[in-house]
Amino acid sequence: MTRFKIALLTGDGIGPEISNSSVAILKTLSEQFHLRLDIRNVEAGDRTLKRLGKALPQESIDVIETSDVCLKGPVGETAADVIVKLRQLLDLYANLRPAKAYPQVSNYRQGIDLLIVRENTEDLYRGHEFEFDGGAVALRLITKNACSRIAEYAFRMARERGLQKRVIAVHKANVLRKTDGLFSRVCREVASRNVDIDFNEMYVDAAAMNLIRNPNQFDVLVTTNLYGDILSDEAAQLVGGLGVAPSANVGDNFALFEPVHGSAPDIAGKGIANPLAMLLCVKMMMDWWALKSADESARRAAEALEDAVLCTLARTRTPDLGGNSSTREVTNSVIRQLKKEPRS
Ligand code: ATP
Repeated sequence: MTRFKIALLTGDGIGPEISNSSVAILKTLSEQFHLRLDIRNVEAGDRTLKRLGKALPQESIDVIETSDVCLKGPVGETAADVIVKLRQLLDLYANLRPAKAYPQVSNYRQGIDLLIVRENTEDLYRGHEFEFDGGAVALRLITKNACSRIAEYAFRMARERGLQKRVIAVHKANVLRKTDGLFSRVCREVASRNVDIDFNEMYVDAAAMNLIRNPNQFDVLVTTNLYGDILSDEAAQLVGGLGVAPSANVGDNFALFEPVHGSAPDIAGKGIANPLAMLLCVKMMMDWWALKSADESARRAAEALEDAVLCTLARTRTPDLGGNSSTREVTNSVIRQLKKEPRS
């Protein structure tokens, strides 16, 4: 079995608390499923900036680049210096934001199981903004290559998930004829090569409405950077909020997994941070590794971890989900569930 090298970036605020929880779970998974995990700590973020003068030092980049994957906690004020730089450096062009309704979460909507595949490198987020006398202008970059690879990725995900096998391309091509027009055209081209997957298009305003009105119609949504950013927060809220929202930044050879939430400075150090978003990142990471290396143990570990999170949600919750348990109690509950049945 190949060794799986994980760069662990703990981050700021509640980052160290939820990262400790993730390490405890990774150790349990490694024992239960005989996984060979090599966890390497890397420093980045606000505390690193204070200590070393740089939010993302070269030594950390070196460790990340020589690992198979990065598991990242939330970073505070320096978030953009860390995550935006890593996305560009490692060409992590697909941002995956799943939203799955767990019946155990109180404000859930039943049956939602969707994935937003957001283009991660272009659009207004390139930061080409200019001021002129009396106004400002932002340039939006959309290229054929980026549209093509994100659309291909979305179709692959729809096939791998094996659920509704449906991709919906979300854009506003009726108004933004050149930029979103290109995105729409390329998605259609890619759809014509993936005829086993059902394909439709939806304007972004309609998609925002339909996520509330009838979220169960969605399987995989593919969209550009800004729309994806907004729609994925909306979708996360539909299924229980930030405490249970994981995400992945994926390239062709590398992936970085991070909870959607920030460093939550208001609750840092209190021992009540919800570790489940980061634990669901561990689940996504195991799924990714299973696919990349055809490692059946990693796939079973991912499945068991999701089951353990579900069992835990039914009985033990942190205050953000209406409970009164601590980070440690939730973590211990997940560990107990994982150890319940001997696995090989
Ligand atoms: P940042 O500046 O790092 O983005 P923030 O507080 O502005 O921090 P978030 O960290 O996303 O933004 O937090 C928004 C709210 O959600 C806060 O009240 C925070 O306590 C809560 N929150 C976020 N993540 C968690 C978590 N894992 N467990 C419990 N509460 C959380």
